[in-house]
Amino acid sequence: MTYDVVVVGLGGMGSAAAAALARRGQRVLGLDRYRPVHDQGASHGETRIVRKAYFEGSAYVPLLLRAYELWDELGLLTRNGGLFLGAPDSRVLAGSLATAQEWDLPHELLDAAEVHRRFPAFTPPGDTVALLERDAGWVSPEAAVGAQLERAARAGAELHHQEPVDAWEATADGVRVTTARGTYEAGALVLAPGRWAVDLLPEAPVPLRVEERRVHFFPGTAGDFAQERFPVWIWERPDGTVPYGFPDLGSGVKAAVHHSRLRPAAEWPGEDVGELLAPLLRGLGPRPLRTVDCTYTLTPDEHFVLGRHAAHERVLVACGFSGHGFKLTPVLGEALADLAVAGSTPHDLSLFDPCRPLRA
Ligand SMILES: Cc1cc2nc3c(=O)[nH]c(=O)nc-3n(C[C@H](O)[C@H](O)[C@H](O)COP(=O)(O)OP(=O)(O)OC[C@H]3O[C@@H](n4cnc5c(N)ncnc54)[C@H](O)[C@@H]3O)c2cc1C
Repeated sequence: MTYDVVVVGLGGMGSAAAAALARRGQRVLGLDRYRPVHDQGASHGETRIVRKAYFEGSAYVPLLLRAYELWDELGLLTRNGGLFLGAPDSRVLAGSLATAQEWDLPHELLDAAEVHRRFPAFTPPGDTVALLERDAGWVSPEAAVGAQLERAARAGAELHHQEPVDAWEATADGVRVTTARGTYEAGALVLAPGRWAVDLLPEAPVPLRVEERRVHFFPGTAGDFAQERFPVWIWERPDGTVPYGFPDLGSGVKAAVHHSRLRPAAEWPGEDVGELLAPLLRGLGPRPLRTVDCTYTLTPDEHFVLGRHAAHERVLVACGFSGHGFKLTPVLGEALADLAVAGSTPHDLSLFDPCRPLRA
């Protein structure tokens, strides 16, 4: 057997898994269809929010605590704070507060006036409440993928870029992976193909939906949107639409729609997003300077798909990150390495069970 583990997909998840595996002395082959740190998948666009107060579910918090340790080890996390805003009973506000209270995460609750006093660019409607998490912030997905690939290579991983995987199969004692350039045998396989999971895992029990998303970079009043005065933020509007955004790091104030019941999130042109944000950020210019496309791979319950393949013991799957997976890439890379090397992990991954019964 030439390799211990083949990792297919070297984006956010695969690069972290390849680094974790190689650093444990595994003979790793990583394969990706594009050049390193590309903009065709889900791990590009300057910034990703990192936070611990987690309205998506309190089961994420232990993973997030470990992810923070690993981000600090990588030296890539900027803690400029996070504001999670909405009506008191909104999912974003109430859910963030519930996890912060349950896990004793440091936080403050601010009313609209106090938000504006501390962070002048924010002008929330009067009945808005915000949870401020000082420890929240952002990472650059490009920097993170680059750093993980470098770590993997430094620890001896063989990384083949621009070599798409055409097929894989389980063998008697491992796996076989085929590309146009060769056939590779390994003891285990990690499949982290992002939005292409639908091609490599056609029979996955958890249905995946790929959605286009657009992120916009707006002009903003100089100073107020600098990261010293402007935290990352997520706002649940009264109509249920959830935009989010980042400070101006030099190329504009980034903002986008995460979810909307009004129309598919992909169908929000920049001008409409500008209009949507006007009540919260009055100093933002109405039209974006530029727009970047990206994709979400969504599961029906918006929890990830991560663990052992339903039918193949030596195959691990990592996909369906539903627009909120980047912050967890270091810890999920570690968990994938645990599963590939030791067969089990101390991390509780039950929420992400690839065999959980879900309908599209
Ligand atoms: C606009 C946007 C905003 C987001 N905001 C946040 C946020 O603020 N916080 C957060 O935590 N998360 C956020 N996310 C989610 C997060 O970025 C994703 O969950 C994460 O990047 C997914 O990583 P991945 O490795 O699954 O996919 P990718 O990074 O896309 O990697 C998949 C890789 O697989 C390769 N590949 C696919 N098929 C093959 C094949 N057959 N052979 C070889 N290689 C293959 C691809 O080339 C690619 O490199 C956001 C996502 C988007 C799109």
